[in-house]
Amino acid sequence: MVHLEKQFPIIIDMQKEKAVIWFNQCVSSQSAPQISAEDIEGARQRLERFAPYIEKVFPETAMNHGIIESELKEIPKMKVALQKYSEKTLVGRLLIKCDSHLPISGSIKARGGIYEVLSIAETIAIDKGELSIEEDYSVLADDKYKRLFSNYSISVGSTGNLGLSIGIISAKLGFNVTVHMSAEARRWKKDLLREKGVTVIEYEADYEKAVAEGRKQAEQDPNCHFIDDENSKALFLGYAVAAKRVEHQLRQQNISVDAQHPLFVYLPCGVGGGPGGVAYGLKQIYGDHVHCFFAEPVQAPCMLLGVMTGLHSNICVQDIGLTGRTAADGLAVGRASQFVGTIIGHQLDGIFTVEDDRLFQFLSTLASEENIAIEPSAAAGFPGFFLTQNHSDYCTKIGQTAMSQSTHIVWATGGSMVPSQEMQQYIEKGNALNASSGA
Ligand SMILES: *Cc1c(COP(=O)(O)O)cnc(C)c1O
Repeated sequence: MVHLEKQFPIIIDMQKEKAVIWFNQCVSSQSAPQISAEDIEGARQRLERFAPYIEKVFPETAMNHGIIESELKEIPKMKVALQKYSEKTLVGRLLIKCDSHLPISGSIKARGGIYEVLSIAETIAIDKGELSIEEDYSVLADDKYKRLFSNYSISVGSTGNLGLSIGIISAKLGFNVTVHMSAEARRWKKDLLREKGVTVIEYEADYEKAVAEGRKQAEQDPNCHFIDDENSKALFLGYAVAAKRVEHQLRQQNISVDAQHPLFVYLPCGVGGGPGGVAYGLKQIYGDHVHCFFAEPVQAPCMLLGVMTGLHSNICVQDIGLTGRTAADGLAVGRASQFVGTIIGHQLDGIFTVEDDRLFQFLSTLASEENIAIEPSAAAGFPGFFLTQNHSDYCTKIGQTAMSQSTHIVWATGGSMVPSQEMQQYIEKGNALNASSGA
């Protein structure tokens, strides 16, 4: 990999686990032929068809009539805190997208993961002549359908949250479901899934190994659908629908997005599907007026490595001497999705990395300033707010006036399912770090 460091000197800092930011020198809003606007609209409509079912079996979604959505909130006190932290005057409005509090599974995976399982269920029920597209899908809660779906199984490899999402919805529909979990996955996630009747298989090795095992086992069973986090168009579409919802929320809050009012979005990235789908959907809507950045832990910058070098899944963080181990379990991924990297890489304005300690600091500050509790992975987007505007070349490119009228969304990707005791430990850890750094 010697040649790579010559061509991409930023790798030298990455190897030292330094927080870095990489700006894409040739951003393009060109979308990919394999994912069209119609595909995303189709996914939105499918979720609408399922809303009566979701509302019936997950009463917590009743307020939103079975549409799984989260709040988009302005966080002015957090803005002040980040100003103090970065020792700079920061411009623009700071908002948080609370996917940390999405119903059913408390993370961004409640978008893609649930969407893919619903698609599978719909296909089976329609193929078997047991459902038509015009029907009220709340009938799917009947035992008749549970018996039908019990002839099929669903399997997934996960660092935790995808497993939660797939496990909960699949078990609810009546599928046999197996979640292959990596070593980093938290105990409480495994316990919760087992409680719901999900088969959990644990691996000593990392996420990649869990996925490979899951795939292998699923291949041996024709009635088993393997949810492939690295290559799934359905997952991607489920995430992309979020963009349409955000468009609506921004409009409701009278926030414009145009050349003079650019939108910046900071998305924590693991294998890439979640942030990739959201970013892709946003680019479809706003084109050059939205600027998307991915955020990764210093130990697991797999998408940065793949997109910057163009090697995508042909390179992993271990190749440059990193471990891929991080307290941000949703982001503990050593190798990025080739599918996602090739579709979204050129549309990103950049990718930055964050030290684990900072994640705890930001989540504690958010808890004390705004009373919002999120998990470490979900805090990765915060540095984007100051990194972008503290970079003078980048500000010049965007335009100073536009920058001063900008809106910034930090996408908080998970947290509400974390047991309160564990959350308290996260917050205390961050508080201690904040105290010792004088923040
Ligand atoms: C999964 C996850 C992500 C990243 O999503 P990918 O699709 O793996 O890139 C970010 N944050 C949290 C909390 C997650 O669970």
